[in-house]
Amino acid sequence: MIISNKQSAEDKTKEVKNSQAKKEVDDLITKNDDLDYNLRPKALDGYIGQEKTIKQLKLIIDSAKIRDTLPEHILFYGQPGLGKTTLASLISQELGANLKTIAAPALQKGGDIVSLLINMEPNTILFVDEIHRLKAPLEEIMYSAMEDCVVDLVMGKGQGVSLGRFDLNPFTLVGATTQLGRISKPLKDRFPTVFQLEPYNESDILALVDRNLEILKINMDEDAKIAVSRRCRGVPRIANNILKRFKDLQVVHNIKTIDKETSLEFLYELGIYELGLTNSDINYLKSLKETSLALKTLSGILMEEAETLETVVEPYLIYLGFLDKGSDGRKLTPKGRIFIQNY
Ligand code: ADP
Repeated sequence: MIISNKQSAEDKTKEVKNSQAKKEVDDLITKNDDLDYNLRPKALDGYIGQEKTIKQLKLIIDSAKIRDTLPEHILFYGQPGLGKTTLASLISQELGANLKTIAAPALQKGGDIVSLLINMEPNTILFVDEIHRLKAPLEEIMYSAMEDCVVDLVMGKGQGVSLGRFDLNPFTLVGATTQLGRISKPLKDRFPTVFQLEPYNESDILALVDRNLEILKINMDEDAKIAVSRRCRGVPRIANNILKRFKDLQVVHNIKTIDKETSLEFLYELGIYELGLTNSDINYLKSLKETSLALKTLSGILMEEAETLETVVEPYLIYLGFLDKGSDGRKLTPKGRIFIQNY
């Protein structure tokens, strides 16, 4: 009797331990599909970083709410992953407006943009990503839509041709671009408000990493957090992508707390080196060791699209003070030259 009691106590303890362990694992595993959604900021209040932009946006939104209207058109520019799409979605949410999202390359013909505009519901924020890629004739249709909320259409052919004008529901266009210089002047001039998003500074990115570690239920010591933050290049998307990989590491190897050594080793395995440089950056810098080169030549050598080099690789190398974009091509600065010597 005593034995069976002891056994049942042991069984009970095992059961409790198993269910505890299961709960711990369940807690660690957030469904992958949910990760991106969970990491996305849910309101302008508490949004980490971009303080000046957030302050101005709140003012614009509050004013629109008081006047019971939609804000004027807004343009965001900055490198990929800094939060342009997130901000467009938060604007619509704060205003209780509909959000319609489209990437400019998806609009091929005049008919695409006309149908998009005339089918827009009242109270809509139209978010056009990569707006610098909007084709010129489509841009012209957008001008009258932005200015007067109308679309002019040529209908019929030959002798039966007639001009038609459609009134649109009032809307706010939120444009996003990684390349402000590629937006035509007339289009740019039609955005009364232009916000430049900058890479996040070290303390903001550390705060963001801290917040997202908590959401992802990853335990990381302070030194590891700092090491990770310094390798995010000040870009939330990069930070989130790295943290998701750490989640995999923690779940698979059941690591209680990630320390600095583990974090650095893992970042190295991910191909993320000091200052957040990747193999693409290192190869880019190596190509310029001996001579300056034109963007097109670099694009050929590195087998990378010129636009990717210009929008993703180069801004960070310039920010680090490693690269000069002169009229005679791209060349290393003395600082860049010293850095790449070790590779
Ligand atoms: P962009 O449109 O500029 O390329 P996104 O808005 O898509 O950038 O943001 C990239 C990722 O970074 C998203 O997963 C988003 O949730 C996250 N993100 C952006 N800004 C922040 C922020 N301030 N705090 C936390 N996560 C952010």
